[in-house]
Amino acid sequence: MVVLGIGCHPDDLEIGCGGTLAKYAKAGHKVFMCHIANGNVGHAEIMPDELRCIRTAEAERAAKVLGAEAISLDVGDLQVEASVKAVRDALTEVLRHTGADLIITHNPVDYMRDHEQASALARDVSFTATIPHLFTQSPYITNFKPVFFMDTLAGINFIPTEYVDISVEIEQKLEAVNCHESQVKWMREHDHIDFLDFVRTCNKYRGLQSNCVYAEGFRQYLAWPHIVPRRLLP
Ligand SMILES: [Zn+2]
Repeated sequence: MVVLGIGCHPDDLEIGCGGTLAKYAKAGHKVFMCHIANGNVGHAEIMPDELRCIRTAEAERAAKVLGAEAISLDVGDLQVEASVKAVRDALTEVLRHTGADLIITHNPVDYMRDHEQASALARDVSFTATIPHLFTQSPYITNFKPVFFMDTLAGINFIPTEYVDISVEIEQKLEAVNCHESQVKWMREHDHIDFLDFVRTCNKYRGLQSNCVYAEGFRQYLAWPHIVPRRLLP
């Protein structure tokens, strides 16, 4: 299988589904991690142009830790809009080019607009990639891809319907999150938030819910014709 994570910022996929992506990769599946925004305003001291480069490199390192390949659409932070044709077409091309069998993205309702727009874009392209007369570099695909929503930060307003046991992959996941040093270090030094502990706690709670040590929670996008009669999550 080919798995395509579509996150908003560099680090979102690592936090929401990094263990699951590592598990897919370990099982021999090809995994792509596409972030739409470049994360350029995610710091109070480092200026946007410099931060954009830092975060792109961090995303590439994190993807490598998980056994995945990073893709960036390089949209500026706070500018992710599902209605922008150029972005939708670029993401459509990513789906066609990667040949992904399923998509993992943000919950449609989340704590910031960019995340919600990224979720809308992921759902949009699962449809638009099949339209023959929507031309991108790669040819159109013929079947609609299943979409899964990953957990929200701290699990707020998110009741998983499927769980993935990541007890074996938890340290690998945290190592990938830790690759985003510009975020983790900043939060630790200036906000006194241990973000690695934050993520571990959320996954431990999902593990408690699903009778394992650490887990990630998901919900499937339940819309025809995106549903297949078999489990796709590992
Ligand atoms: Zn984000």
